[in-house]
Amino acid sequence: MQFIDLKKQYSILKEQIDENIHSVLEHGQYIMGPEIVKLEKKLADYTGRKYCATCSSGTDALLIPLLAWDIGQGDAVFTTPFTFIATAEVISLVGATPVFVDIDEKTYNISPELLEEKIIQIENHSNLKPKAIIPVDLFGLPSDYAQILKIAEKHNLKVLEDAAQAFGGSTNGLKACKFGEISATSFFPAKPLGCYGDGGAIFTDNSELYEKITSIRVHGQGQDKYTNVRIGVNGRIDSIQAAVLLAKLLIFDDEIKMRNSIASKYNEKLKDKLVVPSIPDGYISAWAQYSVLAENSRHRSEIQARLKEKNIPTAIYYPIPLHLQEAFGDLGQKKGDFPISERISERIFSLPFHPYLSDEDIELICGEI
Ligand SMILES: *Cc1c(COP(=O)(O)O)cnc(C)c1O
Repeated sequence: MQFIDLKKQYSILKEQIDENIHSVLEHGQYIMGPEIVKLEKKLADYTGRKYCATCSSGTDALLIPLLAWDIGQGDAVFTTPFTFIATAEVISLVGATPVFVDIDEKTYNISPELLEEKIIQIENHSNLKPKAIIPVDLFGLPSDYAQILKIAEKHNLKVLEDAAQAFGGSTNGLKACKFGEISATSFFPAKPLGCYGDGGAIFTDNSELYEKITSIRVHGQGQDKYTNVRIGVNGRIDSIQAAVLLAKLLIFDDEIKMRNSIASKYNEKLKDKLVVPSIPDGYISAWAQYSVLAENSRHRSEIQARLKEKNIPTAIYYPIPLHLQEAFGDLGQKKGDFPISERISERIFSLPFHPYLSDEDIELICGEI
């Protein structure tokens, strides 16, 4: 059994994907070909955003907005320690300081209450200038934007939604990538909407920011290629990746439904054995991962070992919260600083999950557990 089976999806879409890729090989515009404009229009429509700029990865989709806002040395950017390294890495890359805030016990997303406490603490007791919040829509579940956007407005902070795992998710009819001044997503192959390499996209409704973002994406270009008006990056997605995504979008909504149906089946079978994901009313997850809690780390190891014996792969997202990573050693944080993230990281693990997971496989996995 595979943790995420991408070949099954390819076998379903083979004709369309092959045709789209061949069309790129025929026209030869490998960079910024016609697929890019087409894809950006479709992604903007899908999310309800005015503007979409595709880019080279989810990480660049987080980095470019920070550059567009001129965030740097002396600035504080709030995010959670219970996420993939890229979320906080980009804050340090631009010279700003990541300020971690612990997560909500049930959704694993940033806790709005703890967020406001931390903002007030930084405002009153540090030399850092609070500038932005990066909420993470973990495992595909959008964060509590009703609360977060209110707090951001009150404290004059920008919001960059890290929807790398959440493309296709929604809350009260609003799609992930619609929250905050700018949103970022990833098309890494294992994400809900994945290409066949690296890719990402940035979303905004602000035309001035959009212009800046597209300039930074290509070395800070001005009127033309050899006029450079700011420092940027080489952050474009390839035409071939856009061609793959255009094919995958054709069945994407069906896949989101399939993901939700599989999650319900897992929930039903596992709810008396483990802590299963809790999706608040009005929310739809894109189910980038299906993650459960064991009683403790020993219980988790036992279940993982048992499943491994039966060739059932599992994974841990995330075994080490970011405040305990060596890379952030300079921040001087220690064990005990973010107890919820630490406790969850000792208990959480993820089960095989993709839209084409069969009932037999679900039965087998849950039976072993
Ligand atoms: C995958 C991921 C990223 C980075 O995306 P890449 O395309 O791999 O660069 C950023 N944030 C989160 C939460 C992710 O899961």
